Amino acid sequence: MSEAEEQEAWFRVSEPEPGVFAIEEPRHSERVASYLIVGAAQALLLDTGMGVAPLRPVVESLTDKPLTVLISHAHFDHIGGTHEFAGSAPILVHEQEAPKLRAGLGPDYLTRFYGSESLSGPLPAGFDPAEATIPGVEPSVLLRGGETVDLGDRVLEVLVCPGHAAGLLAVLDRGRRCLYSTDVAYAGALYAHLPGVDLGAYRETLGDLARLVPDLDRLYPAHNERPLPAEYLTRMAEALDAIVAGRAPDGARPDADVHRFDGFTVLVPPAVRVANG
Ligand SMILES: [Zn+2]
Ligand SMILES: [Zn+2]
Repeated sequence: MSEAEEQEAWFRVSEPEPGVFAIEEPRHSERVASYLIVGAAQALLLDTGMGVAPLRPVVESLTDKPLTVLISHAHFDHIGGTHEFAGSAPILVHEQEAPKLRAGLGPDYLTRFYGSESLSGPLPAGFDPAEATIPGVEPSVLLRGGETVDLGDRVLEVLVCPGHAAGLLAVLDRGRRCLYSTDVAYAGALYAHLPGVDLGAYRETLGDLARLVPDLDRLYPAHNERPLPAEYLTRMAEALDAIVAGRAPDGARPDADVHRFDGFTVLVPPAVRVANG
């Protein structure tokens, strides 16, 4: 494979519905996806992936509409390509995530994520895990939730969803009955065990989102399969309610208790069990 083909192959682009592109990074076990939502007048890029291969050429191959970049939260796998858009597109992020976006990340943090156990195929030529760096970026607009982004024929609402991260955002397209659920809700293991996670806030966020289910058909999550039926929100809210109420875990790993449910698991700090049990 040529270098260009390998970089192209790092991403897998699909269009799950007209005007919505999922830009996945399927060779990494996180299976993160950024979304490009193309409206009649403008386009929104929700997250910028891991920063392993250039994202901007992929985005520019999909749309020539004026672009806004919205960062769901500042975990490394959602901000990696943000610097590619600095100066050419407004970059929006919740004010509580802004310091991490500004700071960027270096190999001391990033290298660990690119061991062979995390990869199912080659990294793009030119990306060296030992030197992995995500440059810091100055955001253009700080969000607090409640804002709207008008793409012309679709208006997106920004929802603040604390829990997994303090300034985590999700994006609601009420007109099309879908929620871009970012790292709030996805199939697989929900990371509620990481430093910085507020389990009580996560539970409240899912309770709030579950109330939207009658107005939703599907979720576009930032990891793993898509779309998910909207009723995942209800089941995840019930799951976190049960965990906070003292549900016994189904398993344990060194860093987390494991709670298994139909279609997803929830990882929580072992201390939760101690505190409630
Ligand atoms: Zn995250
Ligand atoms: Zn994530």
